[in-house]
Amino acid sequence: MLETVDAFRLELPWLFWLGATCLGLAVGSFLNVVIHRVPRMMERAWRSECAELLEQPEHKPADETLNLVHPRSRCPGCGKLITALENIPVLSWLWLRGRCRHCGMRIAFRYPLVELLTAGLTLLTLWHFGPSLYGLAVLVLVWSLIALSFIDLEHQLLPDQITLPVLWLGLLVSLHPQSPLEPTQAIVGAAAGYLSLWTVYHAFRLLTGKEGLGYGDFKLMGLFGAWMGWPVIPLVVLLGSVLGLIAALGVALTGRKVAGVPMPFGPFLAGAGLVALFAGEALIESYLRLSGA
Ligand SMILES: [Zn+2]
Repeated sequence: MLETVDAFRLELPWLFWLGATCLGLAVGSFLNVVIHRVPRMMERAWRSECAELLEQPEHKPADETLNLVHPRSRCPGCGKLITALENIPVLSWLWLRGRCRHCGMRIAFRYPLVELLTAGLTLLTLWHFGPSLYGLAVLVLVWSLIALSFIDLEHQLLPDQITLPVLWLGLLVSLHPQSPLEPTQAIVGAAAGYLSLWTVYHAFRLLTGKEGLGYGDFKLMGLFGAWMGWPVIPLVVLLGSVLGLIAALGVALTGRKVAGVPMPFGPFLAGAGLVALFAGEALIESYLRLSGA
């Protein structure tokens, strides 16, 4: 089946890339649902577990089921169902000028941003890795990183429900002949990735008595180790820290820092991981050449 897709890419390139763009936009639209609902689904699960633990009656919310397909999306302002026409990626947002058609409530810029970003990274992934089985696995990785970044930005949380399956997928992918890693390298990479930030976290806590990182960040580094091997870990940590520092400076300079709200590290690690995924080898090689090794 994948050979047919590849032949199609060579025969009718414009149609292939148009299809890929539509796929990216549609997945981006789904990622918006994931970003909005997964933290709320987790909160409900926690509440229900706490109620059970404390042996208290659980206060069930009015809208009983909440998962990634149910219920259909509604405007949080007026509760009107969002129609298919109002749900077309990017175009609907432009057409509605970023507001609900009924009550005029603002629709966050995050929605078209996630859709455009997903489309862009989908094209980049297919161009870089081709429509192979390995390329499709990398697409899952890239899409997950987008969801993780935006959830972490909003909730300072990297859900295990996303990080762990993608970490296991990375280990499994190393069994495939197209994978650039051997299974041994993926396993060592996953452990080294987790331990890298775990060590930093405990050293920082011993020295300052503060907690500067979350366990989600360690798992995200484990994920990168599983997909790209241990040599990429220092690169991702360094690049992620630089990106985070630039963002922190930007926030400080524009005075938009909200006191007491910690800055998430996940989005910067994810951004650094994406750079490593597409340009890691070139970066490490040029570093080695510069340092004369
Ligand atoms: Zn509305």
